[in-house]
Amino acid sequence: MPIPNSAEGEGSVRLYGARQNNLKNIDVEFPRAALTVVTGVSGSGKSSLAFDTIYAEGQRRYVECVSTYAKQFLERLPRPDYDRVDGLAPALAIRQGAAAQTGRSTVGTVTEVADHLRLLLARVGETICAKCGTKVPRHSVDSVLEAILAREREEVTLWFELPAHPGETAKQLWARALARGFVRARSGSDAAPRSRKASASARTGWARLDEPPPRGLTLPIHVYVDRLLPAPENRTRLRESLEIAWREGHGRVFVESEAGETLCYHDGRTCERCGREFPEPLPQLFSFNSPYGACPECRGFGNVLTFTLRRVVPNPGKSVLEGALEPWANSWRAHFLPKLKTVSERYGIPLDRPFRSLSKDHRKILLEGAPGFRGVFPFLERLRAKSYKSSARFLVKHYQEAVLCATCGGNRLKPEALEVYVGGRNIAQLGAMTVGELRPFLADLRLDPMGEQVAATILAELRGRLEYLSETGLDYLTLDRPSKTLSGGEAQRIELANALGGSLSHALYVLDEPTVGLHPRDTERLIRVLRRLQGRKNTLLVVEHDPDVIQSADWILELGPGAGERGGRVLYQGPRELWPGGDLACSEWAGAVAEAAAEPYGRAKKAAWIEVRGAREHNLKGR
Ligand SMILES: [Zn+2]
Ligand SMILES: [Zn+2]
Repeated sequence: MPIPNSAEGEGSVRLYGARQNNLKNIDVEFPRAALTVVTGVSGSGKSSLAFDTIYAEGQRRYVECVSTYAKQFLERLPRPDYDRVDGLAPALAIRQGAAAQTGRSTVGTVTEVADHLRLLLARVGETICAKCGTKVPRHSVDSVLEAILAREREEVTLWFELPAHPGETAKQLWARALARGFVRARSGSDAAPRSRKASASARTGWARLDEPPPRGLTLPIHVYVDRLLPAPENRTRLRESLEIAWREGHGRVFVESEAGETLCYHDGRTCERCGREFPEPLPQLFSFNSPYGACPECRGFGNVLTFTLRRVVPNPGKSVLEGALEPWANSWRAHFLPKLKTVSERYGIPLDRPFRSLSKDHRKILLEGAPGFRGVFPFLERLRAKSYKSSARFLVKHYQEAVLCATCGGNRLKPEALEVYVGGRNIAQLGAMTVGELRPFLADLRLDPMGEQVAATILAELRGRLEYLSETGLDYLTLDRPSKTLSGGEAQRIELANALGGSLSHALYVLDEPTVGLHPRDTERLIRVLRRLQGRKNTLLVVEHDPDVIQSADWILELGPGAGERGGRVLYQGPRELWPGGDLACSEWAGAVAEAAAEPYGRAKKAAWIEVRGAREHNLKGR
């Protein structure tokens, strides 16, 4: 059936002589920038056509036009069995369970929502010291400017400490300060006393950089930037000087008063009340996949391997002499038996009684040791510490179990990562939210004007991604849900949401039963999502049985009549309005096809076509 060119002139995809798997040398055609549903009984060749031929060829062509570097990451597919294809665009498959299935990936990571939340925390998060509950100030040039204007009434000197490269000497640093265009500097050890009581002038100690450095120059090197009265009329100059000092001093600037008192302003990583230091809130701090953010105890796994009683004494009904302490029961028995006898005599431990009937103290001695006797656990710990040999490692592993990490409580992050909040929530609390909860939370997020500006693009990205997830019916998923626990349908809808978030147009999306596992009320939403993708001039080829999806298609490709060798033929291809299956109640149609399929091949084909033709005539008459 010829396809009239659509108003946009998008044309069609034409495939000739498809013979992949059970396809019977068929020709198919479907419009571009439209929604086509491939339907038919199970095993009739829908996947052979949609995935093994059309997607495979589209993907193969796509791979041909990307860089050699990118090629290594893409699925390489052999050329499918067909004669010719026209109008094919680069193809993307959205399959059941297609999301990344690595052990550490979560809904948050595969949708990139987690990346953006990390950025948000890094840019506008506020650190609250967990020890004393104090908000750790986070200075910027602007906040320092306001602080100085509010505080200082006399002239101040602005300077910064030039950060030394590893191995750089004071003399080299002096030369570097000159090269960077500064005029005066001093050695940190010559600085004016830092107490208001001291009467030394802040003017002292500064030497010209273009003269030979003072004798006995030591680190650190203070570099002079400006000296001025912090008054409203000097605001612009103060700001400019602060910016220079802030930038050159890597976020640390010193303000020295006439009396010699010096205040250090920095980008805020020390608690003012208890003096605790905090790591710089880089985005990696909020990722357990990064060594910078991972819990040091469990290295980001959330649990640690620990020797457990259950493994060490698997059968507490046995006595020690019968081998209750399993690590010492076999090859180590001869070595440890004399030691056990000695400790038993000293503490009166009955070695011939079941382990479970021993007193708590006696069990503790055997397991944890006593003076002069190394217990089973310390023995295993020591073995682990020097277990370079794989046999020893294997032995040690046998007595270990994965136990929830006590340091991070299983959330896999450094404790400091959890002290940074946005809208009162840290990364773990944000991750535990569902898509449906996070959307209003971010919409209601109030930031200061500066933060608002900094976070605007990040928030826009987040809003978009969450909206797409919501549109594909995934409001109920939490971001920290491991992607390997998702159903095939959920993983596919995440891919669909990602496709919506991407900006591809003129591509071919091939989908595999996207309604599987979807609540019927969400099907309509799914159809809207498909239509949005189509609205960007993408071509959609959807393998589907769902009557609602079929009813909303532009074009139908029906394969059949039977399964396997009895399928692989085109029963119908054309506009949905003319499709005979569309007029019958779905069950009736499926029944007719199934009946036909049950017949021997030759008759089945005939029977199915008779049904089809009759229905079509009826349909045409009605128009
Ligand atoms: Zn504190
Ligand atoms: Zn941990």
